[in-house]
Amino acid sequence: MKKYPKSNYRNIDLYKDVSDEDWNDWKWQLKNVIRDIPTLKKVIEIDESKEKDLENCLTKFKMGITPYYASLMDKNYDRGVIRLQAVPKILELDVAIDDHADPLHEDVDSPVPGLTHRYPDRVLLLVTHICSMYCRHCTRRRMVGDNDQHLSTKQIDDCIEYIKQHKEVRDVLISGGDPLTLSTKRLEYVLKSLREIEHVEIIRIGSRMPVVMPQRINDDLVEMITKYHPVYVNTHFNHPHEITQEAKGACEKLANAGIQLGNQTVLLRDVNDCPNIMKKLMHELLMIRVKPYYIYQCDLSRGISHFRTSISKGMEIMENLRGHTTGMAVPTFVVDAPGGGGKIPVMPNYLISQSDRRFVLRNYEGVITTYTQPENVFSDCGHCNICADKRYKPLDGLAKLLSGEKLYLEPANLVRRERDKNGKS
Ligand code: SF4
Repeated sequence: MKKYPKSNYRNIDLYKDVSDEDWNDWKWQLKNVIRDIPTLKKVIEIDESKEKDLENCLTKFKMGITPYYASLMDKNYDRGVIRLQAVPKILELDVAIDDHADPLHEDVDSPVPGLTHRYPDRVLLLVTHICSMYCRHCTRRRMVGDNDQHLSTKQIDDCIEYIKQHKEVRDVLISGGDPLTLSTKRLEYVLKSLREIEHVEIIRIGSRMPVVMPQRINDDLVEMITKYHPVYVNTHFNHPHEITQEAKGACEKLANAGIQLGNQTVLLRDVNDCPNIMKKLMHELLMIRVKPYYIYQCDLSRGISHFRTSISKGMEIMENLRGHTTGMAVPTFVVDAPGGGGKIPVMPNYLISQSDRRFVLRNYEGVITTYTQPENVFSDCGHCNICADKRYKPLDGLAKLLSGEKLYLEPANLVRRERDKNGKS
């Protein structure tokens, strides 16, 4: 079995006298998050001009780096992939023309503070604004780091009440901030309340803790979560250098408790915008029992334009994964649509042409092949109990056209319709 590197914090003066007990205690890690330049300078070298830039940047955005994640940084190399994700850069002060504070309209699609209801059958529950570490590429930087607070009990109860009233919600994603910054007891309050709602089938937790503070994944937390199964955890590894013995230990602890793990990677310029880095990352994730789930095109959030690369780069990465390695290692590449349109998958085109009988397809090697469709065979479904259950009927979109429930979809205020209306009046 592959041996992963371990954090070498004993080589860092600032941490060399920290006891193992403290280092492995998530509360110690949280208490000692690096928030200022003098402390950061005890871990890495920062030249004078960069220090000025950093000072300027901190007037607008907060810094927060866990001691564990800081110990993975290269002391002298300022283009290291851990450092790029952790240490602010002056480029964060640039606002690109297409940047938005809330590009995904999470606040707009929020019927109750702390809850986003966008997709038909699932909601996003943002239980905190706090993270153990402030990732420089964070899409929620409008709220994270600005207002260091968890949701109050009243706010959580209001969100729970909304979910209770909406029987179509079968899946709740708990996120933030990082929900694992909540105490185990507090998190249990949320999980227990959700589990008491009959129509909530699955609960997901989105957390970067296995990457930036694996100490948080302790026995108490894992034992508590297992009481509320099925619970899934999605985490956020962006580069193979983040996979250490400690991170592996955290993921294994969760996996051993039957908590399935998925990973959401953000495509980041100079960090992972390379097909080979991504392939290695996907392989290593499977080795630590984490299933690659999504690669995200970097959102249009304010102050992160220097992290963005082209969608074409993402397509190139997908071309290098599909077929070249196991399908288990192939996540879905998505653009999270500005304006709240949700995740839109983007991938290379494998369909070359089609006739009424044949599909012409190409594979990853460039082999061109055909699939002959059966003649005059149409699905004759709609007779079993599942089709009769309205929870499985399409609520929206093209699925309604395919089911025959609608003949067409058209934009509101279609000029042609307006004209018809005006002509008639
Ligand atoms: S842990 Fe997630 S929410 Fe928190 S700063 Fe990082 S990316 Fe943003």
